[in-house]
Amino acid sequence: MALERTLSIIKPDAVAKNVIGGIYNRFETAGLRIVAAKMMHLSKEQAEGFYAEHSERPFFGALVEFMTSGPIVVSVLEGENAVLRHREIMGATNPAEALAGTLRADYAVSIDENAVHGSDAVESAAREIAYFFADEEICARTR
Ligand code: GDP
Ligand code: MG
Repeated sequence: MALERTLSIIKPDAVAKNVIGGIYNRFETAGLRIVAAKMMHLSKEQAEGFYAEHSERPFFGALVEFMTSGPIVVSVLEGENAVLRHREIMGATNPAEALAGTLRADYAVSIDENAVHGSDAVESAAREIAYFFADEEICARTR
């Protein structure tokens, strides 16, 4: 087991549905700690930069438009195996394939409006955390 950090985003559809607390509750119940958090409304440039790895994909324009359509909540989660644990809690990218009880099964409506983002590896987590947070904005709570 390894203590890890991962980047979590509650996407505009979930913020609009007023389910921030419900999603945070799942993280905390699973033993993940919120060690940094902020609400933001991304610019087009911020969304394009964050999703740069997908810039050649056919859905890139729709993804950027969605991610800039309203406020989001960006958080750093910390815990044992946090990257994989968070992905399990989120469920599959396409909510139609997400297991019952996952966030995407419960809160997402479609593959392009799928409620949450989570880093897919320890390396991408480090890059994504640094994209949104300065070191001093992360409040370590581990004792
Ligand atoms: P994730 O890591 O599970 O979020 O999935 P990806 O990294 O593969 O894709 C990033 C985001 O792009 C997804 O969460 C979706 O919001 C969106 N996306 C991925 N695949 C598709 C697709 O086939 N069509 C559309 N419209 N959006 C997609
Ligand atoms: Mg991804």
